[in-house]
Amino acid sequence: MKTRLAVLCVLSFSVVLLFASPSPAGNAAGLKAGAARIDITPEKPVNMSGYAARKGLSTGVHDPLSARAVAFEVNGKRLVLISTDIIGFYEEVGGVMRQAIQDECKLQPSELFLCGIHTHSAPTPTLNRERAHANNVEYTEALKPKLVEVARKALANMEPVKLGLGVGSCPVGGNRRELRVANNGESSIVLGRNPYGTTDKEVLVMKVAKADGAPLAVMFDYATHGTALGTGNLTISGDVPGLAEQFVEKILGGDVVAPIFVGASGNIDPWFRVLPKINEEPGWVPEPVLLGTFLGEEVVSVYRAIRQTNSADPTRSGAAGKIATNFVTLQLPARPPEAGSTEKKQDSVPLNVTVARLGDVAFVGLGAEVFTEIGVAIKAGSPCPHTFVITHCNGSAGYLPIKEAYVQDGYEVKSSRFGPQAAEIVVREAIRLLQDL
Ligand SMILES: [Zn+2]
Repeated sequence: MKTRLAVLCVLSFSVVLLFASPSPAGNAAGLKAGAARIDITPEKPVNMSGYAARKGLSTGVHDPLSARAVAFEVNGKRLVLISTDIIGFYEEVGGVMRQAIQDECKLQPSELFLCGIHTHSAPTPTLNRERAHANNVEYTEALKPKLVEVARKALANMEPVKLGLGVGSCPVGGNRRELRVANNGESSIVLGRNPYGTTDKEVLVMKVAKADGAPLAVMFDYATHGTALGTGNLTISGDVPGLAEQFVEKILGGDVVAPIFVGASGNIDPWFRVLPKINEEPGWVPEPVLLGTFLGEEVVSVYRAIRQTNSADPTRSGAAGKIATNFVTLQLPARPPEAGSTEKKQDSVPLNVTVARLGDVAFVGLGAEVFTEIGVAIKAGSPCPHTFVITHCNGSAGYLPIKEAYVQDGYEVKSSRFGPQAAEIVVREAIRLLQDL
């Protein structure tokens, strides 16, 4: 693990790897891709997701929310990745949305990565008429055809593409598990900032370029919560991850679609964590915009350093021509109930794991908020040189901490349904699933 981190530090500025689709433009057997974006900004005031303490409906929109899809196809085998500017798909919502997209687009479960960016300044998606606000149910019902539409559009507008990959680094995400020692000497882990804790600063960027070299999509992976804005904020925003997407699209212009896929960030927050609200005084750059821009700048810089090639390198070009996918539901050890608690003992907790290979690039989608150490370990053990670790993907099973965190306790451990052994199993199984593709 240490070696891998050291390597990432050395690579901090845009080491660029290249590969190209093996077939000439127009050849049906070659790699094709399509991309689409759809607006999902709420039109009515809604309850917002992420902070139990927050009361009141949204009062306005700072920046728009979108769903972005990128679809790939080689020899009839497809892969669709959707990034949605909401917290994630909790309760039955994820299953309902996934089923609708799969049915409409004739996709296998393993061919769909339906992901949330985990912004805490977006509507709570829910279909629960008894408990939820009517505007939230209405919003979620309208979201379903929009997600189907964005996937359908991406699949309907496929064209021959070339891929390029680059790696950068960004310090926006910080480890949030801060050790506090009280006057009586008792210690606890609180949500704050831990400069000594693990972070994964990798910014992984995939350029999907048309035959003429113009960008179709820029997909990027980075590990941070979308929590620059806190419980006092009632303004709709994509927060840091959403603002980074918007920045990249604005700078690159045209129709380019730039979805973020949020990495393993269960214990990672943006550097400015939980501000009371968006400050829009004249002359003030709102902090989430600052941090989103910081991340977006790195994505653009890495993107610009990616050179397209029609490389005849047989290993790289050969690998780029293949898509393989798998989807499993792992049954992981459950956390035992606290001593004296009336909580019912569960034997296992399900976790959806979706894996895909697109040539030399791996994708691992995890249906939970996993600790950053888990993402780093999967990347390190992956058989592919580059791995998109994507959380809040095809499910939302809550926090998945590493074993060591259970000794220290803290917010994520208290709210987790998983037992301390779960993390190691996830790492092992994710790597095995990738190896089997
Ligand atoms: Zn979270």
